[in-house]
Amino acid sequence: MSKNSPIGDGQVVQIHYTLQDPDGEVIDTSRGDEPLAYLHGGQNIVPGLERQIAGRAVGDKFVAEVSPEEGYGLSSERPPQRVERDAFPPHIPLEEGMQLMAEGDDGDLTPIWILEVDGDDVVISMDHPLAGVPLTFDIEIVATRAASAEEMAHGHPHGPGGHHH
Ligand code: ZN
Repeated sequence: MSKNSPIGDGQVVQIHYTLQDPDGEVIDTSRGDEPLAYLHGGQNIVPGLERQIAGRAVGDKFVAEVSPEEGYGLSSERPPQRVERDAFPPHIPLEEGMQLMAEGDDGDLTPIWILEVDGDDVVISMDHPLAGVPLTFDIEIVATRAASAEEMAHGHPHGPGGHHH
């Protein structure tokens, strides 16, 4: 595979990104740190960004606008809930911004996010903190390579910028 073939499934892609909300506030950035590595086609990043990176090549710089539908989802508009700390298993350290899977009465797992830990109370939301938010990504494609068989099996990249285990 040539070093600069178009990006597609099965490639480990390293990107620098800066994520901004519609007010221009920087939510997250890789710049000043090592680039993020992800497995293209592995659903490691939001679908709207992965779709706009497909077909690009190393050295490309562009801005990707991602709608909530292709980002972190629409807001359920369900208000946050205050629950007792005792509702969570005691061995799980709860931190603001954490995502957990909650088991409903029907046994289905639903993601929840911890908004706040307030003494004996925990404030939770059914929505990702960026649900309903249009996202603007400033992207630079830094490097690409073919994923190894092990990375394909795990569904994520190993090595610099990827998983370490
Ligand atoms: Zn792995």
